[in-house]
Amino acid sequence: MLEKIVIANRGEIALRILRACRELGIKTVAIHSEADRDLKHVRLADESVCIGPAPSIKSYLNTPAIISAAEVTDAVGIHPGYGFLSENADFAERVEQSGFVFIGPKAETIRIMGDKVAAIESMKAAGVPCVPGSDGPLGDDHETNIRMAKQIGYPVIIKAAGGGGGRGMRVVHSEGSLLNSISLTKTEAGTAFNNDMVYMEKYLENPRHVEFQVLADEHGNAIHLGERDCSMQRRHQKVVEEAPAPGITEEERHRIGERVSEACRQIGYRGAGTFEFLYENGEFYFIEMNTRVQVEHPVTEMITGIDIVKEQLLIASGEPLRYKQEDIKITGHAIECRINAEDPKNFLPSPGLIKQYHAPGGPGIRVDSHIYNGYMVPPHYDSLIGKLIAHGENRDSAIARIRTALTEIVIDGIKTNIPLHQDIMRDSAFLKGGTNIHYLEKKLGL
Ligand code: ADP
Repeated sequence: MLEKIVIANRGEIALRILRACRELGIKTVAIHSEADRDLKHVRLADESVCIGPAPSIKSYLNTPAIISAAEVTDAVGIHPGYGFLSENADFAERVEQSGFVFIGPKAETIRIMGDKVAAIESMKAAGVPCVPGSDGPLGDDHETNIRMAKQIGYPVIIKAAGGGGGRGMRVVHSEGSLLNSISLTKTEAGTAFNNDMVYMEKYLENPRHVEFQVLADEHGNAIHLGERDCSMQRRHQKVVEEAPAPGITEEERHRIGERVSEACRQIGYRGAGTFEFLYENGEFYFIEMNTRVQVEHPVTEMITGIDIVKEQLLIASGEPLRYKQEDIKITGHAIECRINAEDPKNFLPSPGLIKQYHAPGGPGIRVDSHIYNGYMVPPHYDSLIGKLIAHGENRDSAIARIRTALTEIVIDGIKTNIPLHQDIMRDSAFLKGGTNIHYLEKKLGL
């Protein structure tokens, strides 16, 4: 078992990792920026190291500072959480070269999955269904590209191989704008990602976002923990997530789950990971793999009873998976609301002092949050201040519980998106289940 690890993140996920470490008897080192001295997990950790000023580029993205913190505290591993350096292959490589365990997959796996063209290629080889497309990067021959788009059928989407965070994509509705769109996306990708490789896919007009959670060890074992629906999005940012995904059958779960587990075995995947799909007219289309723990992992934990972060730590300690596929049973339904410090109307960030905080409770309610009375939400980082999760025997019961919790929770002093969640939890289309990725923006009139 890892003796001591550095938690290379902040906020709710840093606290989540600390809790899992406590349970396993792993000592913790919290690293933090100058703006984050008062974070809850910094106070609770066995040791803490200030690694730099508030801007992330000088602290949470500062590889040498993080590695030095591990050195001076005699830590043996580094957990990157999500965001920041979690999917940075160079960081993972530096961590391992410096003699520490990177709590995640091998650097080379992160590198392949960060190149969307290479990722799609390896998924196809494992029999994972992908979006019909160019099967590789687009070349310079105009005729070939025009023919390809016609064959795929408009609309198509031009995507940067090195893109991320919803950037580096352009939808093309007709042949007239195809060539110009390809060259624009190429230029932008070259500047933004230092890689001007682009590819073409069919543009799915009304898909849902359905993703599969996997766990894999370094001994060749891999299982899936079913799927989540994260279609409730604004600007490609997930707002509400749930598991299981409404309407997905046991047969579909088994079929895609088997394919993604097989893909893990084929690429030698290690740790927790997520395969993201677009789901339209009963078909799954792989879009990308996230090689880290995700914000929405709790909904899967609630319906499977498996602690994903604990499993990450056990896998990184070299242990074989403790579960076989047949051990995984789905019980009930879980929903998560992401609580952001932002104006519920115009979505502008709303950092500041939390004057009063009351957490909700009751059967099936879980709150993953680092905030407390008197905590100052700094303006420098992501606006996520917590996650409210409800589990119930079925979807209706989970919704009923989260509605009650949304009336109990009090966060005073800053603005939050709680009113938006109260509204979503009474929305007739959401109550029916199965809304697509454009639904929320349309509802909001965006
Ligand atoms: P990123 O790494 O930037 O998040 P993704 O490949 O995951 O990029 O795509 C982000 C979002 O863009 C998807 O969640 C979806 O909303 C949209 N998108 C990507 N590819 C397609 C496609 N082929 N058809 C329709 N929408 C797509």
